[in-house]
Amino acid sequence: LPILDVRGVGKTYELNGQKIEALRDANLTVKKGEFVCLIGASGCGKSTLLRIVAGFEPPSAGQALMWDKPVDGPAPDRGMVFQDYGLFPWLTVRQNIGFGPQSRGLPKQEVRDTAERFVNMVGLTRFADAYPHQLSGGMKQRVAIARVLANDADMVLMDEPFGALDAMTRERLQDELLDIWQRTKLTVLFVTHSIEEAIFLADRVVVMEPGPGRIASEHRIELPRP
Ligand code: ADP
Ligand code: ADP
Repeated sequence: LPILDVRGVGKTYELNGQKIEALRDANLTVKKGEFVCLIGASGCGKSTLLRIVAGFEPPSAGQALMWDKPVDGPAPDRGMVFQDYGLFPWLTVRQNIGFGPQSRGLPKQEVRDTAERFVNMVGLTRFADAYPHQLSGGMKQRVAIARVLANDADMVLMDEPFGALDAMTRERLQDELLDIWQRTKLTVLFVTHSIEEAIFLADRVVVMEPGPGRIASEHRIELPRP
């Protein structure tokens, strides 16, 4: 049973009375523990697909299934990491990371311990009490990743997470993400328009065709990990 099964998903937006077909008949399965990169030209519907999987918006056709259950809204089992971090600016690093466990009503001590563990995991021990505006871009993205992990996500959805970072920071975060992925057995669905990034990170690269966003299974490339 795949963790994620996207079946015949279509999405048509309406903008000023005009219909915009962003996705048509998208099919994709992801197995537990896989690191899948979704690549394709800008505008081909990658973000749309990710948002549908995240439950941020409903598909116009077809459905996304998590463990065989239709996605019908956001849930902590699917955490999203955005290019622009999406941190709460009024919360410290520790509080941002502890936000999910706290929202789920875990006991205070468990929230504290979980936040501590993930603050340390992403190397931000010294910055636990800093606010997002006091952090570099790379550090902010570490917080965003830790926040998803602390919330017990089975799958992390990443929408060009390193797109706003300089090349050196990006490479370091790619290494760190792979390291976390190998240690935690996380499942990752990672959107990028960079073929280099996809080949470096992925178990499997899925190419989306330009146009109305069809995912062609025959375009899948299985890559051996070095
Ligand atoms: P990608 O992530 O591959 O760049 P997107 O999923 O962002 O592609 O966009 C796919 C298409 O859908 C584009 O033509 C875009 O303009 C359109 N689109 C995306 N989001 C919306 C929206 N909220 N309303 C209207 N059109 C949208
Ligand atoms: P990253 O590569 O993660 O974006 P930087 O290269 O910007 O991090 O930062 C390198 C180091 O500089 C950090 O590990 C941190 O110790 C320190 N640093 C970065 N930004 C700040 C800041 N706003 N205040 C204090 N120290 C900082």
